[in-house]
Amino acid sequence: MKKYNFNAGPSILPVEAVQSTIEAIKDFEGTGIGLLEISHRTKGYEKVVADAEALFKELLHIPDGYSVIFLGGGASLQFCMVPFNLLEKKAAYLNTGVWANKAQKEAKLFGEVIEVASSKDANYTFIPKGYTIPKDADYFHITTNNTIYGTEIHEDLDSPVTLIADMSSDIFSRPIDVKKYGLIYGGAQKNLAPAGVTFIIVKDELLGKVTRPIPTMLDYRTHIKEGSMFNTPPVLPVYTALQTLKWLKSIGGVEEMYRRNKEKAGLLYAEIDRNKLFKGTTAVEDRSLMNICFVMNDEYQHLNDDFFQFATERGMVGIKGHRSVGGFRASTYNALPKEAVEALIATMQEFEKQH
Ligand SMILES: *Cc1c(COP(=O)(O)O)cnc(C)c1O
Repeated sequence: MKKYNFNAGPSILPVEAVQSTIEAIKDFEGTGIGLLEISHRTKGYEKVVADAEALFKELLHIPDGYSVIFLGGGASLQFCMVPFNLLEKKAAYLNTGVWANKAQKEAKLFGEVIEVASSKDANYTFIPKGYTIPKDADYFHITTNNTIYGTEIHEDLDSPVTLIADMSSDIFSRPIDVKKYGLIYGGAQKNLAPAGVTFIIVKDELLGKVTRPIPTMLDYRTHIKEGSMFNTPPVLPVYTALQTLKWLKSIGGVEEMYRRNKEKAGLLYAEIDRNKLFKGTTAVEDRSLMNICFVMNDEYQHLNDDFFQFATERGMVGIKGHRSVGGFRASTYNALPKEAVEALIATMQEFEKQH
């Protein structure tokens, strides 16, 4: 049976990217040696990193004055690296979910943290608006897409202080205006590559301002200077990331990706709203294009497990909602084809007919 991969992360990758990675594992670019067994100090791999960096800059239209680096440690390490490098006295955080919370918790180890707004009391079903960002904060931190709750900040916010964004689960899903941000980071395993690599886009002039000493490995400047090769890099995920970016460019870049993502999410949300058995879980204007959460309507709650089984039997994988939301979550990342969304919709309609 054909499987449709709606996993929230690690998640679906473009077939082309997976295929070229398989080829490279067998034979890295005609060298007769596999990707898993090469030295990262070979010319071929140096080009992989350089090309990945160049495609980041090209596809996201990153202006001069920014560096792109690839590190280990996941997005979670960035929760502490960001304040380590950039928080002198005070930082502002927007609390839109578990990840935002974890980021904020780490920042408290380095200075004063102002939570400008939170939707915690509403189980993070919306993105707070109309808050004030303190003008004397060193930076303002947001999580653009809340993977667990299915909410997303759809615009590049205006901030009076340096804007920092965790874009782990929506990077490359829409065009962004990078110059509005001081730093953007994310784990690769949602929209880019297998787990193991984290990307950081940082405005160079922000670095070197804090007075505390920073351990070499945790100082962004180390990795910028060494071209993401200060220590042994995660060779395989960086290679796959490059393949994903090549695929993205071949289909028309983030502009075309955004069009496809809006189309896929639009179809699924329309079905959730139409189908008598289901309802969405978040404020309509904050609905994520990447993680689509829905639950059984009140009078059909008892059908929750039945629908899960019904959908699983029809090839749907990874649609169980996160335990803090319940119900279902279909992650519609960049690589997910429209056909998968159509298959899920057909499943929902078939189930509706039986009830
Ligand atoms: C998955 C995720 C993380 C955690 O990433 P790790 O690489 O596992 O540390 C952080 N933020 C967001 C928004 C995520 O979706």
